[in-house]
Amino acid sequence: MPRFIILDGTTIRENHNGEEERPKKRQRIDDDEPTKLQGSAPSRDSIYYFDSVAREKACVIQVEQTLFQISEDLFPLGSTIRSELQQYKSDGKRTSDKEPLLLLSASADGFRALLWALSIPSKDIDGQLEPTEEAQIHPLLALATITHTYRFTTLRDQALSAIERAFSDLILAETCPSTTFAAIIEISVKMNAPKLQKVVMEKWVSRLKRREIPALPAIAAADESGLRQLRGIAYYVHAQELLSRHPHVAGANVAQLFAKSQLNTTQTVCFLAGCMSLVTFWERLQRTPPKLPCLAGCGPAAHRACVVTWNEQWHHAATSKKTLRHGSTDILAILNTVREQLTADQELVEKVTPACRKGGLDALGKTAADLLQDLPNYFPAYT
Ligand SMILES: [Zn+2]
Repeated sequence: MPRFIILDGTTIRENHNGEEERPKKRQRIDDDEPTKLQGSAPSRDSIYYFDSVAREKACVIQVEQTLFQISEDLFPLGSTIRSELQQYKSDGKRTSDKEPLLLLSASADGFRALLWALSIPSKDIDGQLEPTEEAQIHPLLALATITHTYRFTTLRDQALSAIERAFSDLILAETCPSTTFAAIIEISVKMNAPKLQKVVMEKWVSRLKRREIPALPAIAAADESGLRQLRGIAYYVHAQELLSRHPHVAGANVAQLFAKSQLNTTQTVCFLAGCMSLVTFWERLQRTPPKLPCLAGCGPAAHRACVVTWNEQWHHAATSKKTLRHGSTDILAILNTVREQLTADQELVEKVTPACRKGGLDALGKTAADLLQDLPNYFPAYT
């Protein structure tokens, strides 16, 4: 049986062959039990079990059901793992397949990634951490996780920077699935990496806006991590997904979608409240268009005529077939369609002072931009 168990960078405890575990050296901070000790006998790793390591430097470490044998020199002085190995030695003991050092808060894949990274000279590591395709992100995530857990801070920061660089690249961000976005967001929150979080969230939001990626995983991630911007656009897009799948549910009757939304009760309350608010927003705007400003080349009397024409043409555009074919909650698409119609409207060209007309179209553009910014307030978190 393993003599010592390292839970993470701050918690080590001594194993007593099934007796109650007692803290050793450092305070125990969680309640994980060494359940991974149970089951089939561990086997040697096909890559990182080196028979050729000098006996005085060799250490055997068990992660999940895999045994690794490497040189203790691989771990920097002062690191939790190196310190524990030194303690082992000073107690006159040696690790072995039968008495390995056990890492309980790691995955075998993560530990392989750590050993790989530790074997590269630190000056060369950035060049080695350059993922060019989505599959290469996952070892980096595993590396970030294990280096965070066992406090290889420099290596962790290098892994996070590499992920950030990868997601600044268009190809990766434009093709990766929601699960990858969610995994990175989770890590960025856990490791307090706001720059990484911002880069990844912007890419995710951008693809949600273009409806290239499903909204439900983004809703789950946003609610889990309390990310307002992601929450707003994700709930909004989910409403459009539901309406596009169930076009017969028209008008303000979005409540009928309740049973089909795959959201939990709290999320459904948030979702329905937001949908209702969006519908109300549009109903109000449909009746009362954005105010037409009186600008250069116009005067009080002439502007009264500008306003009459603007309001009439607004009404035509807001109730046209083109506009009504959009879902009742897709206000961003509705505003875009109305703006396109008004831009091409000849009555406005002929009867409204050019500066006033441009001011009205700009005001409409600003209404849409403000709504986009305001979406998190339409879908607030209910806790
Ligand atoms: Zn005017």
